[in-house]
Amino acid sequence: MTQPLLLLDVDGPLNPYAAKPHRRPEGYGTHRVKPGSWVARFPRRPAEYVRPLRLWINPAHGPELLALPYELVWATTWMEEANDWISPLVGLPGLPCVDWPELHQDDPDGLHWKTRHLVAWAAGRPFAWVDDESGPQDVEWITAHHPAPALVLRIDPRTGLREGDFATLRRWAEALS
Ligand SMILES: [Mg+2]
Repeated sequence: MTQPLLLLDVDGPLNPYAAKPHRRPEGYGTHRVKPGSWVARFPRRPAEYVRPLRLWINPAHGPELLALPYELVWATTWMEEANDWISPLVGLPGLPCVDWPELHQDDPDGLHWKTRHLVAWAAGRPFAWVDDESGPQDVEWITAHHPAPALVLRIDPRTGLREGDFATLRRWAEALS
């Protein structure tokens, strides 16, 4: 049986951006990066004057994710830049990326902007979606429209992925097979 997909967001699950600035979560390293898409947000400023983006990344997370019985896929606004900037810091190889037709668009039913596209992208394969922004309406819609099992795992962006989340992901995938 093919493994389920693990559709992985960056900001929230891997980078707990909402943690208090003076309370960097245990196990995380601080990185300051300037990916092209970040610099492009400040079109009137020369790149060297753009303040870097602060990232907190836990290098144990890559190996822990790779040990799970899933096929890992980036599902993040970082898109391909996740492979350039996040993979090396977190300890992951280059991963396939969900590419979005549009970012942050409003949804007529109040769904998260990723939800419909993820279900289409998964094309009937079981998946776990790990994100800090999913809501109950997304769970309901996915259950009604995705023809295979799906786990929507919401992560607190103040803490990032925790041991219990890895355990949940493992249990869910094992129960599938
Ligand atoms: Mg996020």
